[in-house]
Amino acid sequence: PSSSSCANQQYRTINNMAQVSLQVRTSLDLANARFKGDTTISYELILEKFRSIEKPIDKYLTLRDLLRLAPRVYYDLLLKHTEEILPYIYTPTVGEACENYHKLPLKTRGMYLTLHDKGNVLKKLQAWPVQDVKVAVITDGERILGLGDLGRNGMGISEGKITLYTAAAGVNPMQCLPICVDIGTNNPAYLEDPDYRGIKAPRVTGAEFDEFMGEVMESLQAWQAHMLVQFEDFGNNNAFRLLDSWRHKMCAFNDDIQGTACITLAGLLSAARATGKPFNEHRVLFLGAGEAGTGIGELIATYLHLRHGMTMEEGRQHCFFMDSRGLVCKSRTNLQHHKQPFAHDVESCPDLKSAIAALKPTALVGVSTIAKAFDREVVEAMCGLNDRPIIFPLSNPTSKSECTYQEAYEWSKGKVLFASGSPFDPITDAGVVHYPAQANNAYIFPAVGYAAILAKSKEITDEMFVLASEELSSMTDMEELEQGRLFPPFQSIRAISKVLTARVAEKMVDAGLGTAPEGCNDWESYVASNMWNADAL
Ligand code: NAP
Ligand code: MN
Repeated sequence: PSSSSCANQQYRTINNMAQVSLQVRTSLDLANARFKGDTTISYELILEKFRSIEKPIDKYLTLRDLLRLAPRVYYDLLLKHTEEILPYIYTPTVGEACENYHKLPLKTRGMYLTLHDKGNVLKKLQAWPVQDVKVAVITDGERILGLGDLGRNGMGISEGKITLYTAAAGVNPMQCLPICVDIGTNNPAYLEDPDYRGIKAPRVTGAEFDEFMGEVMESLQAWQAHMLVQFEDFGNNNAFRLLDSWRHKMCAFNDDIQGTACITLAGLLSAARATGKPFNEHRVLFLGAGEAGTGIGELIATYLHLRHGMTMEEGRQHCFFMDSRGLVCKSRTNLQHHKQPFAHDVESCPDLKSAIAALKPTALVGVSTIAKAFDREVVEAMCGLNDRPIIFPLSNPTSKSECTYQEAYEWSKGKVLFASGSPFDPITDAGVVHYPAQANNAYIFPAVGYAAILAKSKEITDEMFVLASEELSSMTDMEELEQGRLFPPFQSIRAISKVLTARVAEKMVDAGLGTAPEGCNDWESYVASNMWNADAL
């Protein structure tokens, strides 16, 4: 309690503009002056001042102020320095912002839909000041990053994620709507906090949840002739059901399940190339069988089905899962629905080491939120089975990662093919630099989403995600793979997104899901000329 009240104190101080540090003010004041027409102030100077702000949360708040007061400057910084700016808009800083969202001096451009809007959701949408909306990111705040139930404070995650559509893929920010659905919270601290502004009652569940979300989704469909809806950070009791209800009725997808699957499959395809062993001879062992894990498993099975002629069941035989109770296998009872397809006919194993010994995986994927779960013995066991073991500790944030790059590199004597959820520093070994790959969903969802928008696709099928994985994987050559680079450099995200968007949109049209817009003869140039940039302001 003492550390959190100390943090609150800090935010109150930030709130008081008079006490905001000189550096914070200077950066903002400069941007403001530039925005008002003082061209003697360069972006470099504003950026330099921005860099001198010490605390990430102060950078986050400064960027929010910039967006409000000097949007031209904000978007210019975001688009020209995407890699540097993103961590202060999105993960990891957005996590801290969400936890304290109700105490921070923030004004949202997003929309809250609460249980009190029941019966009136469509009316509320129709009264919204912006009517030409193409994409919504929607959360109910139940499982924000690895931080748990943050209720109405989840708005921060919708805002952060939607920014990626503009930064990475070039969707016009005026056509992007972050939404937070407030259906109560089970967070005991918020229920007692006088500053918390959400509904102070336990979350609605089951039929009540379905009914309200049903109204929200139907209203969104009725509101816009075509729109893309991204589900984000729903708890895993609702996420799969919600996705299954809507994914074939409209252009809706879940980034935690499908976006993660797509970026991870891309990384696995690249890593498999580096091993020299064909993909259909790989076996993946997952630590964690939640949204991320089983989503990846399903997409691997889809890939093996579409490209290697296996049935989905045969494809799933290449994926094994451990959850909090050991190996997911046929003898287990009461398995959650999403784990059942992966309950194979194998002996149960109580822990990771016995499962590695029994199943002989070529790849290990960590999506368990259990820090340090990939220890020296685990990495060495993988090395005993494989010349180049594939090890992806994907749990976020950094403090939850199953191992660090340093550890995986040292314990495998440099043999590991590595990708993590959170960023790690490169390693220099005997004068050669080795790069850890980061499986960042932002490589995927903005591009696939923009493709769906441009082609007005009826839905986003798994085949589109498979295609996006293959396309992204093909952007890395053998020499880069040797240095550990499983993905192209994130700083080229706009160029990457342009190609991915074009390929996926073209495929959507070919598959009869969408139509080519008027004047689109060549998708790549069409996408390029439809990528929004700050000059438009
Ligand atoms: P989730 O749906 O809550 O699933 C977590 C899974 O971990 C559950 O299956 C849980 O088991 C399992 N687990 C918990 N303790 C365990 C233990 N001691 N041993 C083995 N398994 C254990 O969460 P999620 O959405 O899948 O996310 C999981 C992690 O992946 C998060 O840290 C998230 O940040 C990360 N992630 C990374 C990326 C990325 O890198 N691009 C993308 C998405 C998610 P039970 O089923 O038995 O409860
Ligand atoms: Mn998420």
